[in-house]
Amino acid sequence: MSFFDDIQKYPLADVQRQINSSTDADVQRALSREKITVDDFAALLSPAALPHLEKMAQKAHRQTLKRFGRTILLYAPLYLSNECANGCIYCGFSGENKIPRETLDLDTIEREARVLHKQGFRHVLLLTGESPMKIGNDFLAAAARRIRHLFSSIALEVYPMEVNGYREMIANGVDGLTIYQETYDPELYDRMHLYGRKKDYKFRIETPERGGEAGLRRIGIGSLLGLGEHRSEGFYTGLHALYLSRKHWRTHLTISFPRIRPADGGFQALNPVSDREMVQLMCALRLLLPDVGLVMSTRESAELRDNLLPLGVTQMSAGSCTAPGGYGEDAEHLEQFSIDDDRTPAEIEQLLRKRGYDPVWKDWDAALMAD
Ligand code: SF4
Repeated sequence: MSFFDDIQKYPLADVQRQINSSTDADVQRALSREKITVDDFAALLSPAALPHLEKMAQKAHRQTLKRFGRTILLYAPLYLSNECANGCIYCGFSGENKIPRETLDLDTIEREARVLHKQGFRHVLLLTGESPMKIGNDFLAAAARRIRHLFSSIALEVYPMEVNGYREMIANGVDGLTIYQETYDPELYDRMHLYGRKKDYKFRIETPERGGEAGLRRIGIGSLLGLGEHRSEGFYTGLHALYLSRKHWRTHLTISFPRIRPADGGFQALNPVSDREMVQLMCALRLLLPDVGLVMSTRESAELRDNLLPLGVTQMSAGSCTAPGGYGEDAEHLEQFSIDDDRTPAEIEQLLRKRGYDPVWKDWDAALMAD
């Protein structure tokens, strides 16, 4: 049994019917409970919950303070390569786009890593497109080994691996994985992914479980906001996180809220998600999952990120560049998508302190687990 089997019990049409038929009384009942059920969660995602957004936000804020205090973990993405053999129609790195391709060598990776280290980062997320023939496990293991002395946590956002692949990554200093399902709707998923390994919906949706089985300490999931209808996508994301938190209770789970950004290829969101809808989604997920970290990246504007802070955000990227080699030199022509919040890490740190939050650069050290 995997989440793939579990999700079959929740056909999309039924989920959408349940969400859209939720009433004001359902929402009020959900808001009166200390611990909400999956039915309550559906009500909080519904249009009927929109007039209660302020109350949801206050409750989400209280839950976050109770579990996480006023701390925000800061991390930086580090793009190693924009090679990609997949045809995801929403992505600038898609094999469909005739863009310059670049893969960093180990010296350049270390140079980029040192820039981030100097800025204060101790948590780094290594990203590539999906081209296992060119960028395979050996390359990723070598990259992690090369920079592990600079960081207390290294996570990967790369192609999905088998359990043994993740074990190999752990042995080389990796402790986290980010893997977005993009959309939980299998039909839409098939239309968005024209070719390549990513076309395999089941293999992808089971990836966080393989990471958990291998013993990864952090796993991040999410759907790409703007593809599927956001209320049902939020519902499935919540179910997925619940499932993973029961099955891999030692692993710290996070949920991200990536919204489609301008990128090469010019893809436009099929179901645009407004700021208000994103706030609702975030609050509903916080109320369902009090222990799960919520991540907000520099895809979003500075103003929105500042306003979302109290609602449950526990991790933020800062000063991000989405092009391989972009920290050491100008590489805008290679970027995956353009970011919106271009403040420096120091500015973000300052802002967090001003708002009464503790910016955390390091919340973990592998040495703590050594015998
Ligand atoms: S989303 Fe990932 S797999 Fe798909 S085209 Fe972009 S980089 Fe490649």
